[in-house]
Amino acid sequence: MRDYYEILGVEKNASPEQLKKAYRKLALMYHPDRNSGDAEAEEKFKEAAEAYEVLSDPSKRQRYDQFGHAGVRGGGGAGGAGFQDINDIFSAFSDIFGSGGSIFDEMFGGRGAGGARRRQGRPGNDLRIKLPLSLEDIAEGTEKKIKVRKFITCEVCDGKGVEDPETGYETCSTCKGAGEVRQVSRTVFGQFVNVQACPTCRGEGKIIREPCENCSGEGRTKGEETINITVPAGVLEGHYLTLRGAGNAGQRGGSSGDLRVEIIEKQHEHFTREGLDIFYELHISFPDAALGTEVEVPTLKGRARLQIDAGVQSGKILRMRERGIPDIESSRIGDQMVRVRVWTPTTLTDEEREGLEGLRDAESFQPDPDSLGDRRGFFSRVKDVFS
Ligand SMILES: [Zn+2]
Ligand SMILES: [Zn+2]
Repeated sequence: MRDYYEILGVEKNASPEQLKKAYRKLALMYHPDRNSGDAEAEEKFKEAAEAYEVLSDPSKRQRYDQFGHAGVRGGGGAGGAGFQDINDIFSAFSDIFGSGGSIFDEMFGGRGAGGARRRQGRPGNDLRIKLPLSLEDIAEGTEKKIKVRKFITCEVCDGKGVEDPETGYETCSTCKGAGEVRQVSRTVFGQFVNVQACPTCRGEGKIIREPCENCSGEGRTKGEETINITVPAGVLEGHYLTLRGAGNAGQRGGSSGDLRVEIIEKQHEHFTREGLDIFYELHISFPDAALGTEVEVPTLKGRARLQIDAGVQSGKILRMRERGIPDIESSRIGDQMVRVRVWTPTTLTDEEREGLEGLRDAESFQPDPDSLGDRRGFFSRVKDVFS
């Protein structure tokens, strides 16, 4: 048996406040609501409770300090016979767990101490689904209804596994309904009781005699549920949204698993996304590039007009402010980048060829990158931006 101070992780001279704090921490960590079905956690939870029960009582603590475990266990009605049931722990420390509203209510979603009584059924598994979204959906945020095939709570027995709770069960003969089995051992220090969940009924204290026909006593059936998913603006490919309790229903009243929704970004016909920015390739003719023009470009919120100045070079990037994707964590909004591509004709009529031949040696048509100064940045993909 481990030392009570060691179990709580405190010094021998710890104050009552320190003891309480240390115990609270352990109790939260190993609380059955958080460690459903984990026998080791339950053991640790009981162990910590036992240590706290002794050390928080000044006279028991004194005896323990003098005589060790022998001073507080078994013989002579010294108390501290060990906790046999989780429920005993909750009733013994109502100042810590509260009676009704408690720190556990806050931490575990209102189930509180009462919810930890005899575990019902087995929890359902988590489910994962993929949710493909368009860039428009991602930019705006959206609501999606999707059908999920999964285990749902049986509608006939409401998850109990029996249609009539009055006659459907019989008391477990192994544990006589207690839900746990005890082994008693006697030593010179007194009597020790080892308590385990009953293996026959898995701690439920009862077994099903007349299983619900709809679910064969499982309390759940295969089915389908339509689930509303609220997607915030700015999600990224690979992000997960977790919907608590929307996964598979548990067996016979066990808690439901979660639904994990993975965001998939659908390919867009016009845009590619880079972080918060979206990129669009704008093809313009050579005369438009040389003379300047006004064009219409798509955006995530309809079409917009864009001025193209005379003399624009191929590769130039024009920035349309705040036409991109909003940041999920701030108020920042990305931009739409329009990359200019000057179209080179691939076929020419005789007439066109003749016209171009006449311009081949014209002075203004000779490449002169130096005249662009810093704007040579085009070619190193620097975001050189105007408008
Ligand atoms: Zn049923
Ligand atoms: Zn049993």
